Amino acid sequence: MTDPPPQRRGRALWCAALVLCALAGSAAAEGHGTYYVRPLGDVDAAQAAYTCRVVVEVFHTPCRVLRGQPLPRRHLNAARNQYDADGLIDVLFRDMPTDAVGLLGLTNGDLYDGRRPRFVFGLASLVDRVGLVSMARYRGTWWGEAADLPRFLDRLYKVVVHEVGHTLGLAHCPNRRCVMRDDATLEALDDSPRRFCRGCRHGVQAGREVRPGTAHWHYLRGHAHLARGQHPQAVFHLQLAAELDPLDGLAANDLGVAYLRRGDAGRALWWLRHARELAPALPNAAFNEGLVYLSVGDHTRARDAFEAAVSADPGWALAHRQLGLLYQENLADIPRALVHYEAYLGQGRGVDRDIEARIRLIKGGGAQRP
Ligand SMILES: [Zn+2]
Ligand SMILES: [Zn+2]
Repeated sequence: MTDPPPQRRGRALWCAALVLCALAGSAAAEGHGTYYVRPLGDVDAAQAAYTCRVVVEVFHTPCRVLRGQPLPRRHLNAARNQYDADGLIDVLFRDMPTDAVGLLGLTNGDLYDGRRPRFVFGLASLVDRVGLVSMARYRGTWWGEAADLPRFLDRLYKVVVHEVGHTLGLAHCPNRRCVMRDDATLEALDDSPRRFCRGCRHGVQAGREVRPGTAHWHYLRGHAHLARGQHPQAVFHLQLAAELDPLDGLAANDLGVAYLRRGDAGRALWWLRHARELAPALPNAAFNEGLVYLSVGDHTRARDAFEAAVSADPGWALAHRQLGLLYQENLADIPRALVHYEAYLGQGRGVDRDIEARIRLIKGGGAQRP
């Protein structure tokens, strides 16, 4: 079990949620949907069937085992003899059925996650609704111990419940008596409870409400495509999300971002302004609007939009950075630039040598451009 990746790829624009179907796949009609299990590589049919039974029993949702796929060699790290879990999640996401409540990959391949040491039992994305479970290390034989089927199944049960919980939107839980706690070792996994705490049970219920065809389901799909740079698919789902829930400022914001990434600044601006009307307290849309104006060289409007972002959220570090650069480079207002550079560094975002050098030059009375 490991942290679900909140953002798996860098992005210059800020989407509304911080947390990851081709266009040909038409919008699934709203229904209860099915949870799917996809074997990856050599997986015993009984193990896949057991996984589905756990999903049905614990989450009260229909479950189907899909046809297996080979483990893609391109995601094998030969030096570690392990598969990159992020890469496998991308593979699973690509072929996710359109009526899926969620999708869990099941493999005997050993997994690693670049953000964690050594290995992971599984990985999941709250946005993609895709998870992955590796059975490689549940067997006593992996660790030089005798085979122990009941123990193997107990481990599989806990990791399946945990990862499916992630795919339904649950983060890790600080309650040590909850299956959503973060366990990184086999000893911790054996000690882990099999059940959800009360709060996480409610979270599961809410996650199950996000059925295929609902506004939030389309929002998540759109967001996941956006994170992968699949802009036409992102626009398709986010447009549906915005139509199904016309008051959702987050969907409108992300739709604006998707249009901008597709190179349509006009539609991007329309949706970002609309998002600001729907959710004036949300700084994302104002910040993104500033980036659109910046891209077309409209510095005054860009300044106004970034200023709106920092007045909605004074701790928005990147908006302070953009304002500092705008005031220094384009608006010839060095005192204001300094205020925003310092506000930016004050948010503790780590080292930024460029901005630090600019501050030194300004304070030293040097050139305006470092
Ligand atoms: Zn986890
Ligand atoms: Zn919990």
